[in-house]
Amino acid sequence: KQGGSDGDHIAFYSQDMNQGMQERMRIETGLRNALGNGELMLHYQPKYSIPDGKIIGAEALVRWRHPERGLVPPSEFIPLAEATGLVVQVGEWVLETACAQAQAWKHAGLPPIRLAVNVSAREFTAALPGRVSETLKRYGLEPSWLELEITESTLMNNIDRVIGIMDRITAMGVTLSLDDFGTGYSSLSYLKRFPIDTLKIDRSFTIGIPADVNDCAIANTIISIAQQLKHKVIAEGVETAEQLSFLKNSGCDEVQGYLFSRPLEAEAFERALRENWLPETSSRAA
Ligand code: C2E
Ligand code: MG
Ligand code: MG
Ligand code: MG
Repeated sequence: KQGGSDGDHIAFYSQDMNQGMQERMRIETGLRNALGNGELMLHYQPKYSIPDGKIIGAEALVRWRHPERGLVPPSEFIPLAEATGLVVQVGEWVLETACAQAQAWKHAGLPPIRLAVNVSAREFTAALPGRVSETLKRYGLEPSWLELEITESTLMNNIDRVIGIMDRITAMGVTLSLDDFGTGYSSLSYLKRFPIDTLKIDRSFTIGIPADVNDCAIANTIISIAQQLKHKVIAEGVETAEQLSFLKNSGCDEVQGYLFSRPLEAEAFERALRENWLPETSSRAA
């Protein structure tokens, strides 16, 4: 086809748009089915304390085991699920599955860890605290087993309402961390009002350490803010020993990244946790 006239351009354009919409609808229908068919799964990426190198927690990360496309990463369906509202059902499945897994690990006698679940802005409603508390009770879990990772986009909504929900969550002993910190729009004046436990330094800053002076300065500033506000601070996306030693010297509390471990299937995470807790194991972050 040659295009040429304006009419043709319009025709091409709407054809593209149709394809985009069809693709979206295909993913949406697929995801809806995936929820019922058991095609979603969680991987668990360990979080390590500095300097003793012990696994102190894990982040649950959702994947879609697609019958034709293989393992689909969340970046390819979470944004769409957020746009359509389907993320609420995905989030319910994730919380349920993470708690069932935590219960299994608890019964298997594994050392207590904190399991973090990512929560989208759209899930952060007045219904969330009740659902979290009910789910924890049903699985017989202490609230200290659970952490919710929220992003700055959550804080863009009615701030008093959001703080009210946060307070109800933290009052039961579940902790909150602020994910991808520094990439959104949260203002420092709000930050002091949030009952959060941990700030997460976004991977986009970790990646430039130590060569990029700006990334180093930003990482140091986030660590310093966290310390002043009495929050813990964790760096995500740690891939090199240089990044680790910089973060360690800067007073970062925890790290997560490929240097230590990729996100793992449940059984592999369980093995990593057992090995890490053996007394004779030399600790990598130490
Ligand atoms: P996030 O919460 O910031 O998660 C960190 C992402 O960085 C994960 O990607 C993780 O696999 C990846 N990562 C960790 N360490 C490294 C590293 O050293 N190098 C590199 N290159 N990457 C690293 P993933 O699993 O693809 O998840 C992407 C995003 O999708 C997450 O970002 C989160 O925003 C969202 N997501 C994942 N699972 C869920 C979920 O259950 N619910 C919701 N609402 N969002 C989720
Ligand atoms: Mg996260
Ligand atoms: Mg993150
Ligand atoms: Mg990130």
